[in-house]
Amino acid sequence: MRILLVEDEKNLSAAVCRLLQGERFVVDAAYTGPDGLDCALSGGYDAIILDVMLPGMDGFTVLNRLRGAGVKTPVMMLTARGDLQDRIRGLEGGADYYLPKPFQMGELVACLRAITRRGDSAPVMALAFGGVSLSEKDAKLQNDATGQSVKLGAKEYQLMEVFLRNPGQILPKETLIERVWGYDSEAEYNNLEVYVSFLRKKLSFIGAGVKLKATRGLGYSLEAEQ
Ligand code: CA
Repeated sequence: MRILLVEDEKNLSAAVCRLLQGERFVVDAAYTGPDGLDCALSGGYDAIILDVMLPGMDGFTVLNRLRGAGVKTPVMMLTARGDLQDRIRGLEGGADYYLPKPFQMGELVACLRAITRRGDSAPVMALAFGGVSLSEKDAKLQNDATGQSVKLGAKEYQLMEVFLRNPGQILPKETLIERVWGYDSEAEYNNLEVYVSFLRKKLSFIGAGVKLKATRGLGYSLEAEQ
């Protein structure tokens, strides 16, 4: 799951990034309104955490522009200004949730999970395909027929999640790197290859009926075994 965090307080931003990465989210950070808007407009996020008081452009304006441009990504507004007027303005402007500062980190994660679920086409989208499922709770990849399971590391989880959300689709290497390592990452293509090979080993370990197929020059896809 990929999150955009638009927050100008560097310490808070760093703390939230660490927390979310620990929860296996991929996080991109933006520190000003205009940068946040640019990133958000580029799409590819499952949710946006948006501060209200931001340099360059306030969070409400960012949100209005986003919704005006037809971007429907769930947005959680974050602000120290906890009064009712702001709250109403945020919700009317198309925010999915409003979290007043200071907040508990656990509350932030719970809200994020709630709004990203609501954004899915199904109420709770199971991460499953071809008899294999991935548990959000403990990062275990399981063969549903035999119950055989294996725990995935953070990057393995993020990569497998992208495949399970897009089964049967050839996903370009650039897209996979962007979704798992983020835009500004220094991840190389061979890094991706390494993680794909880890996942293949784990899929084979649980006797999964699905495979990660490489299509030369195009990318990888999660396919059911013939
Ligand atoms: Ca701020």
